[in-house]
Amino acid sequence: MTKIFEKISDKNHEQVVYCNDPSSGLKAIIAIHNTVLGPALGGCRMYPYKNEEDALVDVLRLSRGMTYKASISNLNLGGGKAVIIGEPNSDKSEVLLRSFGKFVQSLGGKYITAEDVGMTVRDMEFIRMETDHVTGIKRAMGGSGDPSILTAFGVFVGMKAALKKRLNIQSLHGLKIGVQGFGKVGYYLCSHLKSEGAEIYGNDINEESLQRVKDEFGVNPVSADELISMDLDVFSPCAMGAVINPTAIESLKCSVIAGAANNQLEKEDRDSKLLKEKKIMYVPDYVINAGGLINVANELQGYDKEKAKFQVEGIYHILTRIFDYAINNNISTLEAANILAERRIQDYSKWNHQ
Ligand code: NAD
Repeated sequence: MTKIFEKISDKNHEQVVYCNDPSSGLKAIIAIHNTVLGPALGGCRMYPYKNEEDALVDVLRLSRGMTYKASISNLNLGGGKAVIIGEPNSDKSEVLLRSFGKFVQSLGGKYITAEDVGMTVRDMEFIRMETDHVTGIKRAMGGSGDPSILTAFGVFVGMKAALKKRLNIQSLHGLKIGVQGFGKVGYYLCSHLKSEGAEIYGNDINEESLQRVKDEFGVNPVSADELISMDLDVFSPCAMGAVINPTAIESLKCSVIAGAANNQLEKEDRDSKLLKEKKIMYVPDYVINAGGLINVANELQGYDKEKAKFQVEGIYHILTRIFDYAINNNISTLEAANILAERRIQDYSKWNHQ
């Protein structure tokens, strides 16, 4: 039997809510990891998990990640996440989504939901019929719209922060940047890279996405193996996770890794240390790709595009602080980010309890 309390206590989760509604077919889990800094914001993922335990493990892992991301981004938010067990293409219905909305509402704002894998902006509108605690609504409905635009902008400024620290370079002009994945984020990232005169190389398993960036930004297509092993200033993973592993690290010749993909390192501890040894500056994924979270967080105070963009620009300074802390303490950039994210929560907690 799944030892639920053991699993919840292991990483200090505050609350886990099992949502069961036979009349709509809803089976969901909401995990609230930490609310010291504010309500727990995190997307809702719909996925046909093999079993209940896989769903629990996923929601616990993802919600904890949100705590770190919100904290390091200086947001007054905690970390949470929800998973709905089911196949999005066949099991999703208005009543299932509204039922999920009712459970979110029952938490009184302690958890704020948003879109994630398997969910769409339209789904959020059904959820919003039952709860106010939802973000990621269309611009036309007063929301913040597509988060990828600011996620890409955050990756761009984060890349610049890393290049300044690692190579003392201010501009990307003439630099060779390799991008893996030209989806929503990769596409917008290319427009920034192109406007600063970078040479862009990359690949995508989707021919149409590749063709689009070739036509619009003059991207030079290379094979997946070439991309990993070619002489680049920056490698930017913007597709899937776990692309950085010991084999890839051996081939990499770049100075910086700065991309949007979540969970880029196959094994965080091992791979962040290997990169440090090889003097490749790894920009922690959850810091550089926080533009999307910062964007939806802005909905909570009434969305203002300029304000959200200004906050995303702050990723430059957040990263510079992380790099300095890592250098001064001779630790990996990921370790430094984790320490600083945890410290903000601890400091606030102490101060708030005085
Ligand atoms: P997306 O699905 O729009 O794009 C991903 C692209 O990667 C697609 O074009 C796909 O064809 C390509 N791809 C998949 N496997 C590949 C492979 N093996 N090699 C090369 N290309 C491959 O996703 P997105 O919204 O652009 O997000 C990209 C990454 O950034 C994801 O890991 C996502 O979790 C993360 N992220 C996105 C956001 C956001 O605001 N969209 C925010 C934070 C993190």
